[in-house]
Amino acid sequence: EQLTHILAAGEVVERPASCLKELLENSIDAGASLIDVKIEKGGMKRIEVYDNGKGIHPDDIEYVFERHTTSKIKSLEDIFSIKTMGFRGEALCAISSVAKVTLVSKHLEEEQGCMVKVEGGKVLSKSFCPFKKGTRIVVEDIFYNTPARLKFLKSPSTEQKYCLEMVEKIAIAWPEISFRAEADGKRQIFTPGDNKIESVIGSIFGIEIVKNLVEFSIEKESLKVWGYFVNPTVSRATRSGYHFYVNRRYIKSKLFSSCVDEAFKNSVITGRFPIVFLFVQIPPSEIDVNVHPSKLEVKFRDEQFVYNTVYKAIADSLKSEKM
Ligand code: ADP
Ligand code: MG
Repeated sequence: EQLTHILAAGEVVERPASCLKELLENSIDAGASLIDVKIEKGGMKRIEVYDNGKGIHPDDIEYVFERHTTSKIKSLEDIFSIKTMGFRGEALCAISSVAKVTLVSKHLEEEQGCMVKVEGGKVLSKSFCPFKKGTRIVVEDIFYNTPARLKFLKSPSTEQKYCLEMVEKIAIAWPEISFRAEADGKRQIFTPGDNKIESVIGSIFGIEIVKNLVEFSIEKESLKVWGYFVNPTVSRATRSGYHFYVNRRYIKSKLFSSCVDEAFKNSVITGRFPIVFLFVQIPPSEIDVNVHPSKLEVKFRDEQFVYNTVYKAIADSLKSEKM
């Protein structure tokens, strides 16, 4: 049983950044307006996430670490119309089987907070305690019981970079949430939570980028496409400026990459790439996010339609930009 959990954990938690991703998604699902991240040694020593969301009920608190416990899917139908970030009920189980976890939470209808400690998948203690609001989860010594996986991690500074990039990617999709992140006691990220994507982009990439943002948007049938690109003259040597989101989930997408490449084919110097923030909203029934546990890929039912619509949105805006 324990072994299967550890094996399953490999798919969900590959490194500190993927652990952090799951924690951030849980905080978003909890309706938080403030998410505060603190990592130490690239998250290898410690990852802490505090959110001011609705909290976990003391009756449920130890069960959230069991496999396939999710409060988010109640029927088979839900699986095909996923509205929350999490839905597999796998993350906390996976994380707690390969790390030392302390969870403190106060459910919004409760007077007191409740704390549990879980190590290597086993609940060690549970107690009531005072707690202001929301949930704090601390993940320490990730992979302490799986040395092979620990060896696979990169240097603390590289793992830190992955963690902070994860916070940034998610923060861009949630401008109404104020994200704060510090690494080894140093503040790295602060987004105001004023519900303006420009503010988030500005706080992460700098004000120069914001000045050069060009907006695009289009709506076709039930598909909504919008976003910004940065005037192609301020372009980059890699595709690292491509940011793609489907239903507020950061994704990697060859489809969108080639779509952007194609749209900018004649506007960017060969070998240079634009900066793009692309948001797509599509009915959950038109996509499948279930391709991989990390949820980084999305399959579209009608790829051609999605491609054409995204292409048109960007190309039209690029055209009027040039005029
Ligand atoms: P999933 O997100 O797929 O449901 P997880 O293992 O990530 O599975 O979390 C299990 C459950 O724990 C969630 O369904 C939710 O009820 C609860 N939970 C986890 N993190 C939080 C949080 N920060 N605030 C409130 N509830 C949480
Ligand atoms: Mg989750």
